[in-house]
Amino acid sequence: MLLYSDYSLKPLNTFNIDAKSEIYFEVSDKQDIDSFIRKRKYFEMPRLIIGNGSNILFTKDYKGVVLKNSLKGIDIQVDADDYVLVRVASGESFDEFAFTCARKRYCGIENLSGIPGSVGGAVVQNIGAYGQEIKNLVEEVEYYDFSTFEFNKIKGEDCKFGYRDSIFKHELSENVLITSVTFRLSKKFEPMLTYGHLDEAVKDIPVLTPMLLRKAILSIRDSKIPDYKQFGNAGSFFKNPELTKAAAKKITEQFPEVKTFELENGNVKIPAGQLIDLCGFKDDNDEKVGVAENNALIVFNRGNAKGKDVLAFAKKIEKTVKDKFGVKLEPEVVIC
Ligand SMILES: Cc1cc2nc3c(=O)[nH]c(=O)nc-3n(C[C@H](O)[C@H](O)[C@H](O)COP(=O)(O)OP(=O)(O)OC[C@H]3O[C@@H](n4cnc5c(N)ncnc54)[C@H](O)[C@@H]3O)c2cc1C
Repeated sequence: MLLYSDYSLKPLNTFNIDAKSEIYFEVSDKQDIDSFIRKRKYFEMPRLIIGNGSNILFTKDYKGVVLKNSLKGIDIQVDADDYVLVRVASGESFDEFAFTCARKRYCGIENLSGIPGSVGGAVVQNIGAYGQEIKNLVEEVEYYDFSTFEFNKIKGEDCKFGYRDSIFKHELSENVLITSVTFRLSKKFEPMLTYGHLDEAVKDIPVLTPMLLRKAILSIRDSKIPDYKQFGNAGSFFKNPELTKAAAKKITEQFPEVKTFELENGNVKIPAGQLIDLCGFKDDNDEKVGVAENNALIVFNRGNAKGKDVLAFAKKIEKTVKDKFGVKLEPEVVIC
């Protein structure tokens, strides 16, 4: 257990924003949760759980306790002929776990390679990439409930997963620390190559393995997403808007260059990055904040931006897109 006051969060958020937390408390094992709730003064303050800070924008210092999740440990629960159930502590790096799975040929997770959050944060957000979402791999989630002082378990199918959404952003958002996630992974490798030109990227590989697919994905990601250690960012800043067919048609009639994708539910998805690009943000010469050259959905810190600079830039994007296309963009990033 580590406890500090007035603690810098700069190394703990991928936007590299220099904010401080009034109190910082690191949870490294389950006894630390006990120690935390016994410190009544801190327990009663506002609280923010942080994993790897790869989906958070700090716009000011945090008044309250930042609870850093450093719970670690991976263990195999079931090792069957065709699948494994692996329980992973929520503070483990999601991508290190994805690497371990690729090495051991535990399949299904490889398309999510390179996403830089914790295992707990990945579930909150229902992370997705290259046609895969974590919801398809979650067997069970264990969490500590600060309102009842109990550990509980919830099945993956009850987590109300949606597009970058889960029960942990709604009913279970306030008082819950996810402590571990049990994944069901297949031992049969059935590569998903239909999304993002993956088939093209791997076409010359004679025998495709989960590790080779992972490497191909990492290389595509590197070409599209700025390195957050140099240019702070949180991946996609906004969600891709989902519209009715009629609403999308209105837009494409006026702007035929806008590409749309039909969804299974009959609605239409419009890549937000495309709308931002068409508003000219790649040429915006703001000194502190920009959007990535190869993907306008990624808002990045040019170096010395404060959280409020990033937020102001994001608001400008929101307004411009709304004025031009009539589409309201919704942030994917948690704004604190
Ligand atoms: C370069 C880059 C690329 C990215 N690419 C993708 C991508 O391809 N697809 C994608 O979906 N996302 C992507 N992301 C976004 C981000 O990595 C994910 O959302 C990630 O899962 C966030 O995890 P985290 O541990 O960093 O969460 P944090 O940012 O620390 O927290 C996010 C939210 O989850 C809550 N939370 C975190 N851990 C817990 C817990 N244990 N219990 C309860 N609540 C918790 C926090 O309170 C907060 O509300 C990218 C980010 C970056 C920087």
